[in-house]
Amino acid sequence: MSSGCATWHSVRMATTLSSLDSNFIGGDWRSAADGATDEVVNPATGAVIGSVPASGAADVDAAVAAASAAFPAWSALTPRERSETLHRVADIIDDNIDELSQIECENVGKPVGIVEFEMDLTKDNWRFFASACRFLEGKASGEYMAGYTSMVRRDPLGVVASITPWNYPLNMATWKLGPALAAGNTVILKPSELTPYSVLRLAELTADVLPPGVFNVVCGQGHVAGAALSEHPGIAMISITGSVGAGKAVARSSADTLKRVHLELGGKAPVIIFDDADIEAAVEMLKGMAFYNSGQDCTAPCRVIAGSKVHDDFVNQLTDAVGSVNVGDPMSEGTDMGPVISDVHRSRIAGYVDRAREAGAEVTIGGSARSGAGFFYEPTVVVGPGQASEIVQREVFGPVVTVQSAADEEAALTMANDVDYGLAASVWTSDVGRAMRMSKALQFGAVWVNDHIPIVSEMPHGGFKQSGYGKDMSMYAVEAYTEVKHVMIKH
Ligand code: NAD
Repeated sequence: MSSGCATWHSVRMATTLSSLDSNFIGGDWRSAADGATDEVVNPATGAVIGSVPASGAADVDAAVAAASAAFPAWSALTPRERSETLHRVADIIDDNIDELSQIECENVGKPVGIVEFEMDLTKDNWRFFASACRFLEGKASGEYMAGYTSMVRRDPLGVVASITPWNYPLNMATWKLGPALAAGNTVILKPSELTPYSVLRLAELTADVLPPGVFNVVCGQGHVAGAALSEHPGIAMISITGSVGAGKAVARSSADTLKRVHLELGGKAPVIIFDDADIEAAVEMLKGMAFYNSGQDCTAPCRVIAGSKVHDDFVNQLTDAVGSVNVGDPMSEGTDMGPVISDVHRSRIAGYVDRAREAGAEVTIGGSARSGAGFFYEPTVVVGPGQASEIVQREVFGPVVTVQSAADEEAALTMANDVDYGLAASVWTSDVGRAMRMSKALQFGAVWVNDHIPIVSEMPHGGFKQSGYGKDMSMYAVEAYTEVKHVMIKH
């Protein structure tokens, strides 16, 4: 963060959150057609901080009309013109980064001390996509048949719908908006009903830069507004980041219109720590990253598989380290971990841990909710759950790490791959050959060696298996928002 967390408390929000209470369609602020609203809550206090439209099919129709009307002019811009416009969006984000960060802290419960990482990534993502407008590639034009010249065009698709989750609201919106707009599409974005504010504020801030209808925001529930977007015949592509269940629902309801579907779904990342690994480094990483954003991260290092020789020592070190994670008020400088997103979600997390304990796993630290206001759950380590148990197989999406033991490389690999998810994994070893073998054999979209979590705009992010299909970030994302056309000219 440019000005540093210490100055934060003096940042005055240009807009109060409660004033961001409308959809943004065609450059206008509009209530839901039927006037319905959803309340938005600060998870650190449980207090209602405002309400936003609970949109339905009529609101989606209006947004599709606006985005369709804006498409011809936006898609006709030269790459340079689109690039310059998107760089201006990046400038606006840069200029307002403290306020946008503060919105995320208030709406998601993120500690002020940790939000810098994702806001810096968000800025860099916008810069990357703004530049990417000018770097689309394809096969060389030429005479592949005598008497004909073939050329490949990469055309934008039209109106794209984007559906985003609550864990990184502005960053996940960036991963959708950036490549779609760069490729010349117009966008309707539905933020999570729990965390709409940073995206609404972005719409407000960029209203004079992006032409009306190029970027529209429709708030609402997934099974209503999200379903209306999935089904709409005027939408060419839908991209969702969310749970596997929501992704399957979108894929199903998009089938009748055969729109392109891009799915960035859940994860259950293994952290494979071999006997020759730097245990201290692995513990340090887990202390930071497993509890970053309260563990509500699709790539969170949540499933440790430790070599049998180091297992006990590792468990002791991890338990000690987790004991020093500072849980509390997100607005305090020294806080490492804030609340989870909602009371319902906290109950879900507690259920996983309670059932694992009943089934014989050992909870070496944490394992309970905090009493009082806000939705806090203790950083938790669960040792020895069975491979088939739900806490190993399902995404907990909270501050919970499981630790299992594996006798050798083959057993570790089998356990790591034995889940429906395939988003991210890490391997900890000092043996280069083993790192190479594991990287090849792990069925995950990202594999880190001797680290876990770092990401960069130039490299793709996306899943294998039920973690979905399609890539965010990188030129692969921009290409995903284009259609390849072959033009063949007889001469
Ligand atoms: P969620 O699935 O509950 O909701 C995500 C979005 O989908 C929300 O906007 C929601 O309103 C919408 N939605 C829900 N049901 C829908 C339906 N039937 N039709 C259309 N839209 C629907 O997920 P969440 O709880 O907001 O976020 C957490 C999930 O997101 C986790 O599973 C996490 O792993 C995943 N996630 C994945 C990535 C990734 O890059 N793969 C990144 C962040 C989060």
